[in-house]
Amino acid sequence: MSDLENEPTDRQPPAHLRPMPEDWRRALAVVAHPDDLEYGCSAAVAGWTDAGREVVYVLATRGEAGIDTLAPAVCGPLREREQRASAAVVGVGEVEFLDHKDGVIEYGTALRRDIAAAIRRHRPELVITLNHRDTWGGVAWNTPDHVAVGRATLDAASDAGNRWIFPELTEQGLEPWDGVRWVAVAGSSRPTHAVDARPGLERAVRSLLEHRAYIEALTDEEPEAYCRTFLTGGAEAAAERFGGVPAVTFELFPR
Ligand SMILES: [Zn+2]
Repeated sequence: MSDLENEPTDRQPPAHLRPMPEDWRRALAVVAHPDDLEYGCSAAVAGWTDAGREVVYVLATRGEAGIDTLAPAVCGPLREREQRASAAVVGVGEVEFLDHKDGVIEYGTALRRDIAAAIRRHRPELVITLNHRDTWGGVAWNTPDHVAVGRATLDAASDAGNRWIFPELTEQGLEPWDGVRWVAVAGSSRPTHAVDARPGLERAVRSLLEHRAYIEALTDEEPEAYCRTFLTGGAEAAAERFGGVPAVTFELFPR
C-alpha cells in the first residue's frame, strides 16, 4: 500500500496505523485540563520518558470548574496537585499552567500567544494536544475547551516560528522556534499513527488514578478498576489497526 492510499480522508480513516516518529528528543504536551493527558495518551508518554526523551506538560487551566461539589477556589489547587503527581508517575517533572478559565477558554490570539510562548520556552520537536475536532467520532460531542486548545496548539506550532506574529514574545527574550516537526493529536477520531501502549500501560493506570478526587466525584466504580477498564479498552480497540498491538493513537500533522 502506498503512503497516498494510506492517507486519511474525510470519508474514512486509514486502515492501518503507522508507528509514531521516534527521531526526536523533546516533546511539549498542551491540553485544556488536568486529566486530559491521562485519559488520552500517558501510556505513550511513559514509554517516551523511559527512552530518555524529555516531555513537558502545559495546561491551559487548573480544571477548577471540573467537580460539581467543589468551588473553583478549592478545586483548582487540588487538581493542580493531582496533575503534578500524575505527571510524575510517567516521568514528567515539569508542569505549567497558563491560567485560562476552565469551561470558557476562548480560541483566539491570546491563547495562541500563550501556547506559542510555551513552545518557544521549551523548543520541542514534537507537540502533543488533545482532540480539536467537534466530536469524538459519531455523535459524541467534544467540549469547547478541548476544541479551542487543540486548534490553538496546531496554530501556535507555526506562530512560534514567526518573529513578527507576536513581537512582544521576542521582546521578552523568547526567540522564535521553528523546530516543531509534528503536532500529534491524541483522542482523534481520525488517527493516523500509534504507539505500543503495553510498556507504559500500568503507569498510565496509576497516573490516571492520581486524579482521585475528580474520579471519585465522577463515578461510583472502584477507582482503580475504572481507570484500568478505560485505558485497557481504548488500547485494545486500537490494536486491530496496529498489527494486534494494544496502542495509543494519534492523528499526526507534519510540518
Ligand atoms: Zn478535558
